Amino acid sequence: TTTIDAPPLGPMLDDIVRSHRPPREAGSVPANIPSLAAVPFSRFGIAVATAAGEIFTSGDADVPFSIQSISKVFTLAMALRRDSSGALWSRVLREPSGSAFNSLVQLEVEHGIPRNPFINAGALVVTDRLMEETPDAATAVLRFLTGQTGEPGPFIDEAAAVSELSNSSRNLALAHFLKDFGNLRQSAEAVVENYVRQCSIMMTCAELAKAGLFLAREGRGTSGTVVSRSEAKRIGSIMLTCGMYDAAGEFAYRVGLPGKSGVGGGILVIVPGHCAISVWSPRLDAKGNSLAGSAALADLSDRTGWSVF
Ligand code: GLN
Repeated sequence: TTTIDAPPLGPMLDDIVRSHRPPREAGSVPANIPSLAAVPFSRFGIAVATAAGEIFTSGDADVPFSIQSISKVFTLAMALRRDSSGALWSRVLREPSGSAFNSLVQLEVEHGIPRNPFINAGALVVTDRLMEETPDAATAVLRFLTGQTGEPGPFIDEAAAVSELSNSSRNLALAHFLKDFGNLRQSAEAVVENYVRQCSIMMTCAELAKAGLFLAREGRGTSGTVVSRSEAKRIGSIMLTCGMYDAAGEFAYRVGLPGKSGVGGGILVIVPGHCAISVWSPRLDAKGNSLAGSAALADLSDRTGWSVF
């Protein structure tokens, strides 16, 4: 294990919160998830879980928020564990999309094979794969996360799931498109329902950093191996190239670390060998990534020198 050799982390995180907690309303909320609009703009939390087992937090790090697309990292890890033959990779590519997370256009151009597992189309395929063995995939994801955090904290916000489900025309369109191309085994409706419920999992920054730690520890989770060292490396690579959708290049430039965002305003970042970082601030930029969260991570990586480069 490696120890954190940057300036003392606790005071630094407090300073990051002071510098980046939004003083006034700015940015947007996701149009398709009405419940998320009610979260106060001034929420800001950050947590660092180190490979050595320490946890540092500041701000609203103990307030649960909707992890949304960050769930795609965990569903991918779960699906890869069951995919010894590599068959999943014939159903989803590993290329950055360069277009919006819920875009339909590329799906037709690529004949129903999504560009990567972190855009909605790709995540629907991954959820469909999980449902082959576990029809209630969302509950399996929740159990996985509860296991990694070592606490009963994470839960599904069923009201948020219902509110998103009644605004899911676009995700249903993606699922039907996938089905038409023969790239979905279950019904479009069942896959979207599971996908939306997995997106509606609520976690705190502290829990999320702990849950992501296996990716910083060559696949080793809090209670045993989650994925192999090679798979952990590959998931990190896909986070770096695809985790922030059409802002992946910008985020890699500013932060230099693999990350995955969600429209709930959370971002999970991995510093391989060192730690997992989670940040949460609910207002979003035009690409659907946390406005203040991205800025805070750029600042933190500059202050600490943490980077994969
Ligand atoms: N549930 C959201 C959706 O499908 C997740 C999107 C996101 O977090 N980028 O639109």
